Amino acid sequence: MPGTVYVDPLHRVAVAGGTHGNEMSGVFLVKHWLKHSSQLERDTVSAVPLLSNPKASEKGVRYYEKDLNRCFTLDILSAPDSPDDPYEVLRAKEINRLLGPRGSANAYDMILDLHNTTSNMGVCLIVSRVHNAVEMHACQYIQTHLPHYNPRIYVYAKPGTDLYSVDSVAKCGLGFELGPQPQGVVRADILQKMKTVIEMTLDFINHLNKGMEFPAFETDTYQCSGQVDFPRSSDGEISAVIHPSLQDKDFSLLHPGDLIFLTLDGQSIPYSGEKPIYPVFINEAAYYEKKIAFILAEKIRVSVPALRRQTH
Ligand SMILES: [Zn+2]
Repeated sequence: MPGTVYVDPLHRVAVAGGTHGNEMSGVFLVKHWLKHSSQLERDTVSAVPLLSNPKASEKGVRYYEKDLNRCFTLDILSAPDSPDDPYEVLRAKEINRLLGPRGSANAYDMILDLHNTTSNMGVCLIVSRVHNAVEMHACQYIQTHLPHYNPRIYVYAKPGTDLYSVDSVAKCGLGFELGPQPQGVVRADILQKMKTVIEMTLDFINHLNKGMEFPAFETDTYQCSGQVDFPRSSDGEISAVIHPSLQDKDFSLLHPGDLIFLTLDGQSIPYSGEKPIYPVFINEAAYYEKKIAFILAEKIRVSVPALRRQTH
């Protein structure tokens, strides 16, 4: 087990919602906090609420021209402005100027980004990779203090790939993916959980800033390892839907031979993978256009060193 990681206190923190304009818990909460910003204040940190995609949030759609949460790659952020740029590309560059620039010393310390999913993901904490001790300890703090939520950690970035999400602009980032909640709908139970999880994260940052030491730990993570498209007919149309026995079974181990799709004629289609795997984001509405029926994740145990604030 490695020693202790020492970090500077986190003073510049943003809470982003409406990154996808039809994921309503984040839209409602951020609009609320814009009027009641004191609720994001702690002794050592005052988090700033940010409505990431105002145009999409106003229209109640995921995005206006392009998925904002795929626009924060270094390629897009560093490209010169063009009159043909989609709205979200311009907005990503604006957020990068506001909270970044990504990868620079001036970047915000942390961005918390609020999302909802139509999948039965429960309370899912999303990190880009597992190397950041602050992000991992924030997850552990949430898991320890809210065990009845059964929060899980999902790692979205594959090794060697560039990051693309809004929270990658800051030095640390956490995504919060809560579901199931339909697009364009806000459910009180999901909203309350999201509010509680964000409050807990701010408490964690406050404790860290005040000098609390967080001991080393081990935890399970779910790391993205692939994706499965719907079966399609020769004209490209979806020819089978998520099987009832797979629906809502996010984070339940899927074995080869388990049924995953059902054709409109009633024929069941089994999983043909070679080994058991964890399906996540099953039947996520926003992924139909991305040709994803569900995502595959491997459960990987990781060791995280102790964490403490740097004292100069
Ligand atoms: Zn989202």
